[in-house]
Amino acid sequence: MKITDFKLYRDKCFINGQWINADSSEIISVNNPATLEEIGTVPKCGKNETKLAIEAANKSWPEWRAKSAKDRSVILKKWYELIIDNKEELAQMMTLEQGKPINESRGEIVYGASFIEWFAEEAKRIYGDTIPDPLTDRRILVIKQPVGVVASITPWNFPNAMITRKCAPALAVGCPVVIKPASQTPYSALALAALAEEAGFPKGTLNVITGKASEIGDELASNSLVRKLSFTGSTEIGKILLQKCAGTVKKVSMELGGHAPFIVFDDANIDDAVIGAIQSKFRNTGQTCVCANRIYAQDGIYDEFCQKFVQATSELKVGDGLNEETTSGPMIDEYSLEKVEEHVQDAIQLGAKIAIGGSKHSLGMNFYQPTILTDVTPEAKITSEETFGPVAPVYRFKDENEVISLANNSPFGLASYFYSRDIGRIWRVSEALEYGMVGVNTGLTSKAEAPFGGIKESGLGREGSKYGVDDFLEVKYVNMCGLDK
Ligand code: NAP
Repeated sequence: MKITDFKLYRDKCFINGQWINADSSEIISVNNPATLEEIGTVPKCGKNETKLAIEAANKSWPEWRAKSAKDRSVILKKWYELIIDNKEELAQMMTLEQGKPINESRGEIVYGASFIEWFAEEAKRIYGDTIPDPLTDRRILVIKQPVGVVASITPWNFPNAMITRKCAPALAVGCPVVIKPASQTPYSALALAALAEEAGFPKGTLNVITGKASEIGDELASNSLVRKLSFTGSTEIGKILLQKCAGTVKKVSMELGGHAPFIVFDDANIDDAVIGAIQSKFRNTGQTCVCANRIYAQDGIYDEFCQKFVQATSELKVGDGLNEETTSGPMIDEYSLEKVEEHVQDAIQLGAKIAIGGSKHSLGMNFYQPTILTDVTPEAKITSEETFGPVAPVYRFKDENEVISLANNSPFGLASYFYSRDIGRIWRVSEALEYGMVGVNTGLTSKAEAPFGGIKESGLGREGSKYGVDDFLEVKYVNMCGLDK
C-alpha cells in the first residue's frame, strides 16, 4: 500500500485555496514508523509562505465572519460528511504515517469528525447577555465576536483530531485558520484540507502549511494579524510559544504534556480497572498526553491487580498497524524509543522489577514491548517525567490521603483516573485531584461534548464542549444610552 495511491494524497501546502510548494523548493521526508521507509515528501516552507497564509486568512475573514452561523454550519457539516465518507482512506493514510493500529485510526477519524459536527451545531448558540444598567435610560449589552485569524500548531500523535478539535470551533464562530501540522504526520492534515476544499470553504479560510517548525512558529506567534494561537504539543515548546505570543498580546490556548495518575482502590471492580488501565496506558502505544503514567494500586488488591494487568498486557499484539490484528504499533521514531529505554533502565537501576516486557520488541526498528514495572521508586525518572511510550509503572499505596498527595505531586495537571465503588470516596477524590480531567471507573474520557484541557503546566484553555468556543471569541460590551428620549 502506497500513500501516493490515495485520492486524498496531497504533497503540497494549501494556502489561499491553492496547492503550493515551498519558495525554495525544499522538501521534508515523511517516513512510515513501522518500516522506516520514506512514504513521500512535503514542502519545507518558512517565514515567507507563513506570512502569505496569514495574509490570505486575514483577507478571507470579513466574508467568513459575515456569513450567518447557519451558513457556516452548513459548510462544516459538509466537511464532516466528507470525512465520514472517506473514513477508511483517511484511516489508512494515518496508519501509514503515524503507525497506530488501523482500528485506532478509524476511531480517531470518527472522533476527529465529531468535533466538526458538534461545533457546526454549537455555532448557532453563541449567546450574549443583557444586564440591567444602574441608570434607567441605559442598557448593557454583551455580544461575542470572532477573534480573527487563528493559528493552530498540532502534534503527530493524533494527526487528525488535534486539528479538528481546534479548527472546528474557530471556523464555526467565524475565524479563519492557519494550520501547522507535525512534520511526521502531514498527510492527514493535507487530506483534511482537500476535503475542506471540496466542502466549499471560501479560499483563505483554511490553510495548511508544512515546514520548518521554529520559523513557521515564530511568524505565527509574532505576526500581529494572528489574534489567537492554539498549540498542542510538549510543555517545552508550549512555554517558548507563550513567551513569543506575549509580544503581540495574543490569546493563547495550550494543550501540553501530562503525567496522569491512575488509582485503583481496594473497593474497585478489578476487572474493569484492568480494562481501563490497558486502554489508558497502551492506546497509541502509550503516546498520548492523557496516558496513565503512574498506576497506584492499594495494598489489599495490589497483587490481584498486577497479576491480571500483566495477563491482559501479554495479550496485546505488537506489529505493523496496517495488520488488522495489531493492537500496539511502533513508536513514532528512534528518539522516542530511546527515551523509553532510558526510563526503563533508570527505573530498574533504582530497584524496579520487570513484570512483563522491559526491552525492544523482536520486530526491531521502532517497536518496543508493552511493559509493566513494579516496585518503582519515587526517584525514578518515570515517576515524574512523561515517558510517552508503552511502559506502566505500578506503585503500592496504603490509604486515600496518601495516594491523593502522591497523585498531585506533579507539575502536570491534565488527565487523572481512579476506580472505586464508594460514592463518598468518588466525590472526595474527584474534587481533590489537581487535574483538568478526572475519569471515574473509566480509562477513556475524551469526547466532543466534554471540556478537554489541563491545569498547572499542562496548559491553558479548553477544547470541545460548549466551553470550546470561548477561546475563539471576544466579549464586547455595548452601553446603549439615551433610551428615554
Ligand atoms: P512537540 O515537539 O512540542 O511538537 C508539537 C508541534 O510543535 C509540532 O507541529 C512541531 O513541529 C511544532 N514545533 C516544534 N518546535 C517548534 C517551535 N520551536 N515553534 C513552533 N512550533 C514548533 O510535541 P510532540 O513531540 O509532537 O508531541 C508530543 C507532546 O504533545 C507530548 O508532550 C504530549 O503530551 C503533548 N500532547 C498534548 C495534548 C493535549 O491535548 N494536552 C495532546 C496531544 C499531545 P515539527 O513536527 O515540525 O517539529
